[in-house]
Amino acid sequence: MSLIVQKYGGTSVGDPERIRNCARRIMECHAAGHRVVAVVSAMAGVTNRLIQLASEVTGEGREPTEREMDVLLATGEQTTIALTAMAINAMGGKAVSLTGAQAGIETDGVHTKARIANITPGEVHRFLDEGNIVILAGFQGKTAEGRITTLGRGGSDLTAIAMAAAIDADLCQIYTDVDGVYTCDPRVVPTARKLEEISYDELLEMASSGSKVMQSRSVEFAKKFGVRFEVRSSLNNNPGTLVREETMSMESVVIRGVSLERDQAKVTITGVGDLPGTASRIFGPVAKANVIIDMIVQNVSKTGITDISFTVNKADLAKAEAALKPVLADLGDGVTMEAQGGIAKLSVVGIGMRSHAGVAAQMFETLSNAGVNIQMISTSEIKIAVTVAEDQIETAAKAVHEAFGLSALQG
Ligand code: ASP
Ligand code: MG
Repeated sequence: MSLIVQKYGGTSVGDPERIRNCARRIMECHAAGHRVVAVVSAMAGVTNRLIQLASEVTGEGREPTEREMDVLLATGEQTTIALTAMAINAMGGKAVSLTGAQAGIETDGVHTKARIANITPGEVHRFLDEGNIVILAGFQGKTAEGRITTLGRGGSDLTAIAMAAAIDADLCQIYTDVDGVYTCDPRVVPTARKLEEISYDELLEMASSGSKVMQSRSVEFAKKFGVRFEVRSSLNNNPGTLVREETMSMESVVIRGVSLERDQAKVTITGVGDLPGTASRIFGPVAKANVIIDMIVQNVSKTGITDISFTVNKADLAKAEAALKPVLADLGDGVTMEAQGGIAKLSVVGIGMRSHAGVAAQMFETLSNAGVNIQMISTSEIKIAVTVAEDQIETAAKAVHEAFGLSALQG
């Protein structure tokens, strides 16, 4: 008999029929002789609707108090646990629902993005010992003083991983609306293939490059505590993708996947001095404006004058420009700023890159043959990312995916 933690995301529990479908799956797992803790998210759209309601009652320009925001947001998951437990009980199973607080999930006091401090799963064990299926609310906990907190958007993944670690589960299954992690977005590259396995670091890099399958914090947590988990679909019985620590055999694959991120923009500051303090005078104000910067490129200067470019999300471009306008004059005479939208980022990710030479060269040659111009390049130990014109991103993704032998037909 194994102890299994399952997690069902918002779309998987999006309406009563889907909740009944999840209830059936949970019961099948229990009937196969396992102990089951099922973590559920709020029904699709509910968290967004609650946020909307909060802003409607507080009015334009005012923020809802964070303490009450968490009391509000936690109701989304609380609704789903009750409904899921009811569905199971109505089908003749035996289930109890637990909120995060009831399940002993204690967090720090940072409302709306709290971190889990520790888990005391006494109640979970007690109900399991009595033969119950435990339905646990994702995304929430309580502080040591008993205030309700939430774990940041997508936080139900974290609940599942952390609870799996706390109760030393044999298996953690993340049920979602896709079949697993793919070599690339199948809507862009139809020959993309579902991966059997991927390492934590690869999944983290894919996520930071736009392939959002799971909340990144939960993957970091899983890595730290060595929780293996499987990402799979709640709509069929196909095997999913196992996310785990690196193995030797994983290194033999050079590129695990290709990911793309659209809606990027580039800001270029030209004619700045190649002097100590320049970068900090540019990026300080941008950081203060709470704009997240992705790639940064500074040219080598021969004359003591250089250009610095960086990319941001298109939605943040106006904020970044507004933050920089007032400091341009301080940066020296003739310093100008140029902003450009219509940019996308393409990344190839794989731990095999560490032990294979020539990956970047192969990627650049492929893009060249496809007639795609590379604008910026950045690399990490297991990732090479380039920015290209947004209208070329699909051509670029298909070419690179093919070149690295990732397509289904290439095996
Ligand atoms: N309901 C929360 C959200 O939409 C948490 C989750 O779904 O994981 O962000
Ligand atoms: Mg979700």
